[in-house]
Amino acid sequence: MIYCITSCVPAGRHCEVHQMTGNYMWDPKTNTSFNIGANKESLLPMWWNGSEPLWVTMERAKRKVSMYYWPGCEVEILGVRPNYCREYYNFPSDANFTRAVNDAVQTLRNSSAEMAAVYYERVDVEGHHFGPWSEQRKNATRIVDQMLQNLDQQITESGLKNEVNIILFSDHGMTDIFWMEKVIELAKYIDFNDIVQIKDRGPVVSLWPAEGKHTKVYNQLKEVQHMDVYEKDQIPDRFYYRKGKFVAPLTLVAEQGWFIAEVGMKQAILVFVCMFRTVLFLSVLFRAKRNFPFGIMAQRLIKAGSMGGMDMTMS
Ligand SMILES: [Zn+2]
Repeated sequence: MIYCITSCVPAGRHCEVHQMTGNYMWDPKTNTSFNIGANKESLLPMWWNGSEPLWVTMERAKRKVSMYYWPGCEVEILGVRPNYCREYYNFPSDANFTRAVNDAVQTLRNSSAEMAAVYYERVDVEGHHFGPWSEQRKNATRIVDQMLQNLDQQITESGLKNEVNIILFSDHGMTDIFWMEKVIELAKYIDFNDIVQIKDRGPVVSLWPAEGKHTKVYNQLKEVQHMDVYEKDQIPDRFYYRKGKFVAPLTLVAEQGWFIAEVGMKQAILVFVCMFRTVLFLSVLFRAKRNFPFGIMAQRLIKAGSMGGMDMTMS
């Protein structure tokens, strides 16, 4: 659920407050979709303006921000863009990452920005592709570890040791899934003529039943094993998700290790392969200056960071 992590956490808000409730959303009033990195409508302010992220707060306070590969830094939020945005693309290399961290330190060093944010995706990508315990994922984590050592060294050598605060935070948790045995094929249980919209596949799926079909679809899905189906007002409080205005009338949540798809295995795999994007390690550096409420912002960040452990594992 990367866009919530990169948008809601820097705003210090749960996703139901921020309104960025998924990588794939739909607004039935305007028939507009948010499909992560895939459609230009995903850049519309309607998805992003629910709360003010830290970089917007900084820019409004006339403090410049530089962002590197940060999803959404290219979007105008509440009428504001960061001073510098090196746009995310799918997906930056380790060399890009190293350069971004070097540039971030440089921009703080020469005072051309007071906050710099760098986003690193490979841990997430390798985890999705090869599994959370794979060598590929572990190697990606080692690169982050090495980068952090380099970062610490650069900050020390730049004389910024007592001036720069570093916040390091991450995306969602992961678990192994079993393609061949643990897939819930929705077409076996519901008639897709009863559905007007479906968003996302995997551990969490959003469904909008057709008019007059809600109860029928809900009752059919209640019988499905290895997943829960929630009407919007039944979604547990601990998800901090229910009050989001883009949350679907029905939300399906798979049991850990299970995968929800519309159709059979081959098609489901194809869909999932298309979902390999998103992220894991995010590092935020910002340079403390007097008269800016860093203490309050840090509290908000820490509070929101605790929601990163939501029980809903998303991409
Ligand atoms: Zn992911």
